[in-house]
Amino acid sequence: MTDVYFLPERDMNPEGFRRLVKPAGAVIPEKGTSLAAIKIHPGEDGNTTFIPARIVKQVVDAFDLPAGRAFLTDTTVLYGGRRMSAPDYHVLAHQHGFSMPGLPPFIVADGLRGTSEIKVDLPSWCETRTARLAAILSETDAAVVLSHFKGHLLAGFGGALKNLGMGFASRGGKLFQHSSVKPRVKSKFCSGCGTCIESCGSGALSMQEGLAVLNASRCTGCGECLQRCPVGAIGVDWNQESGEFTRRLTEYALAVTIAVKVKYYVNFLLNVTPDCDCMRNGGNPMVADIGVLASKDPVALDQASLDMVTAADTIPGSPVTCPAGTDKFRAHRPQTDGTKALERGERIGLGSREYRMVNV
Ligand code: SF4
Ligand code: SF4
Repeated sequence: MTDVYFLPERDMNPEGFRRLVKPAGAVIPEKGTSLAAIKIHPGEDGNTTFIPARIVKQVVDAFDLPAGRAFLTDTTVLYGGRRMSAPDYHVLAHQHGFSMPGLPPFIVADGLRGTSEIKVDLPSWCETRTARLAAILSETDAAVVLSHFKGHLLAGFGGALKNLGMGFASRGGKLFQHSSVKPRVKSKFCSGCGTCIESCGSGALSMQEGLAVLNASRCTGCGECLQRCPVGAIGVDWNQESGEFTRRLTEYALAVTIAVKVKYYVNFLLNVTPDCDCMRNGGNPMVADIGVLASKDPVALDQASLDMVTAADTIPGSPVTCPAGTDKFRAHRPQTDGTKALERGERIGLGSREYRMVNV
């Protein structure tokens, strides 16, 4: 049983955030040369529902990290867009406010093109033998993980576990995690707009006789085309996927905790959209803003976050309408079950699904 700390949305101010992060203690010693990573997601170009820089700054200030020894970080991605290479990602993060005065610098964790990596061996009870993670972890002494809790196309929902497992993976690690995902073009719905072809960074899609066609041998399974198709003409072949993505994601999350001491996890239950911040448009929020949860245990934290979203009523404009007590993410995408990652996380020793909620 782990403690999960809750700060309601109305108390989100510097004093409230100080109470929320107090249980973390000192992330790194006040004196010395150790360095602290603050994992964030500055949002894809066009996305407006990522956690704003001004709120990230309040939380970072609350940790009271030694000046000059902390940095904000994230990794590059597999698909087309502004986050594929470090220079473009830096500019995007700047445009999204993540260079505001007083914030630590934003440093991309896996090199210019996502190929700077370290290899981390996993325990024998994991099916993944070795995880390929962002090289910056080898020089980082401690980390805190700030996550926007929202839906995700493949994982069901994204919170602390996804931010760890996918968010710290190198390009090779991301490829491995996605390689079980097989997209499928549903020709009868395809309008031939070409959006998916532009978004595919692997050249796996082409236009034939006015319809998108997939070359499966080139596809990395990154999932970008699924997110970008405006008419939902690309789906996942769930018969082939069978939960492999979630298993790999969760084992990668464990690998990150082996590579670096993660001192605290913070989940923001604000703008709980059906899709993630990797999308230009994550969709309308499903529930009213709830607040912020934090814990030393990523499994307990994601379980508590899911429970709070489940307990809430849907709001006008939500993509799903269902009563309080319903898993909104499951209602929106019946074939994805985010609780699989929680089950797996508990089984491999990442944390506990049992928690005690503490109001701060
Ligand atoms: S076809 Fe494959 S590689 Fe290309 S965007 Fe879709 S999932 Fe990614
Ligand atoms: S984005 Fe969708 S509708 Fe447009 S070409 Fe691709 S599959 Fe067809």
